[in-house]
Parts: sequence; C-alpha cells; structure tokens
Amino acid sequence: MGAQIIDGRQIAQQIRNNLARQIQVRLEQGRPRPGLAVVLVGENPASQLYVRMKQKACQEVGIYSEEHRLPETISQKQLLELIDQLNSDPKIHGILVQLPLPEGLNEEEVIMRIHPEKDVDGFHPINVGRLTIGAKAYPPCTPAGIMKMLDWIKIDPAGKKAVVIGRSNIVGKPIAQLLLQRNATVTICHSRTKDLVAEARQAEILVVAVGRPQMVKAEWVKTGAVVIDVGINRVGKKTVGDVDFGQVKEVAGWITPVPGGVGPMTIAMLLANTVSAAD
Ligand code: NDP
Repeated sequence: MGAQIIDGRQIAQQIRNNLARQIQVRLEQGRPRPGLAVVLVGENPASQLYVRMKQKACQEVGIYSEEHRLPETISQKQLLELIDQLNSDPKIHGILVQLPLPEGLNEEEVIMRIHPEKDVDGFHPINVGRLTIGAKAYPPCTPAGIMKMLDWIKIDPAGKKAVVIGRSNIVGKPIAQLLLQRNATVTICHSRTKDLVAEARQAEILVVAVGRPQMVKAEWVKTGAVVIDVGINRVGKKTVGDVDFGQVKEVAGWITPVPGGVGPMTIAMLLANTVSAAD
C-alpha cells in the first residue's frame, strides 16, 4: 500500500479561493483592499522567482501588491528608510523582505525594523515571542501551511509523536512550536543529533527541513507516518525535496510531494496573513 499524496497545490487553491471571496466582501463593505509590499534586494535568481510567484498570487486573489527592487549596493540606512516609509504607508498592511539579503546587510536589524503588525512573514521577535507564549501572532508562512495540510487530511497532532528535522528560525523552530501548541510530543533534530534515523523512526508526524536532497530514506520512516517534506533542492534540472519520495511513499501513510507540496502552501499562508493584517 503506497502513501496518500497531500496535494499542496489543491489545498492552496482552495485557501486562495476563500481569500478571494473574503476580499470581495471586504471591498463591498467599503473596507480597504489588503496591500503587500515585497522588498527584493540584489539579483538572487531563486529570490526573484519567489517574489514573482508571490506577486502573481496576490493579483489572483485581489491583494494590492507593490515590489521594491533594490540594487545590492544599497546601504543598510537606505533599506531601513524604505521600511520606515512602508511602515507608515496606509495602503500597505504587510511587508515582506525576501531573504537572504546580500552580504553586508544586517538581516536581523531589517526584520526588527518592520512594524510587528505588518510582519506577515512572522519573523519579528515580537511575533516569534507571541507565538511561543500562545498569544495571537502571525505564524511564519511555511509552518502555518504545514498545519493547514494536517488539518486538511484530518490528522490531529494531539498526543502524537512528532519529529522535526531542522531547527531554523523560519521552519524548524516555529513548526515545532505549532505542533506543541496542538499537543503533539515534539522532538527537534539537527546536525548534532546522535542517531537521527532512530529519532526519525519514532515519528508519527515527520517534518523534514534540512536542505539536503533526498536525505530521508524509507528505513527512516515508521510505517503509516505522515511525512512533510519542506526541502527545495535543485539537482541538475530537477527540483527535489529532502525526502527520497520514490522510496518513502512505499512506507508512509501520507506524504507531500516536491514540487507541489509545502511550497504552494507557504504562498497561500502569506496571502492569508496579509488579509488578516488588513483587519
Ligand atoms: P537552514 O539551512 O536554515 O537549516 C537547516 C537545518 O537542517 C539546520 O538546523 C541544520 O542543523 C539541519 N541539518 C543540516 N544538515 C543536517 C544533517 N545532515 N542532519 C541533520 N540535520 C541537518 O534551512 P531552512 O530551514 O531555511 O530550509 C530547509 C529547506 O527547506 C531548504 O531546502 C529550503 O530551501 C527549504 N524551504 C522551503 C520552503 C517552502 O516553502 N517549501 C520555505 C523555507 C525553506 P544545524 O542547526 O545543527 O546546523
């Protein structure tokens, strides 16, 4: 019996349709159109692609979006001035600075400058702290998208053993928080974990965010587990995840494909956070 595929494109489309309806209703009620500013510094091709996808998604649901493309020679001071200007712009409800920033710019300072109410990526320490104490916060988009996928397939994390491989601030740590909030028993693994395979094999929900192509093999996975593959790795002309999909789908109960899994959900949650930011 092979795993059931969690179709991120289909779930994301449903979320986008709902958002488009919500925006329509807002406008009919005379409330402002949600607005997102996307800031892109430098010429990183992957970042350019993500920004294009995010803007296209905004247009599709009726979010006003504007792009600020800056040369990599921009100074920290000029970048902070742009953030200040966007912070006080009433048309803009969400600000997204596409990461990574080119070397020489201080990412942490830039993120901290975004007004927490406009921090739709959920990276500002205020939002991270709010998420940790269980207060209302914008959850980071990728982890929020993963939780929506679990809801969609009707998997309740409560009481389940969840293992997260990766402890980045944008995926590993916040998905562990969200799973914990939903009463899973959570283990976080990383490059210093002693027996990664043994840890992974315990998981009823396994989330992998390491950035190593097809690292997770069939023998790492408990029969019937839900496997969420966050990785996006270019191998030659192909994009593959951190999970060896061909092998693991034979053991898992549910699995996300790459592409077409977590990626589209991340963008859908950015749109959802922008709409909430306009409320
Ligand atoms: P980071 O590089 O910030 O973090 C990687 C994590 O994996 C680190 O915690 C690292 O451990 C751990 N790690 C690396 N190698 C190993 C190993 N051999 N064994 C165990 N742990 C290891 O990555 P991100 O979290 O930003 O991204 C992870 C992947 O997800 C990437 O492929 C990225 O492109 C993708 N991604 C996809 C998104 C989507 O929308 N689908 C969104 C964001 C990211 P340590 O801390 O000890 O160094």
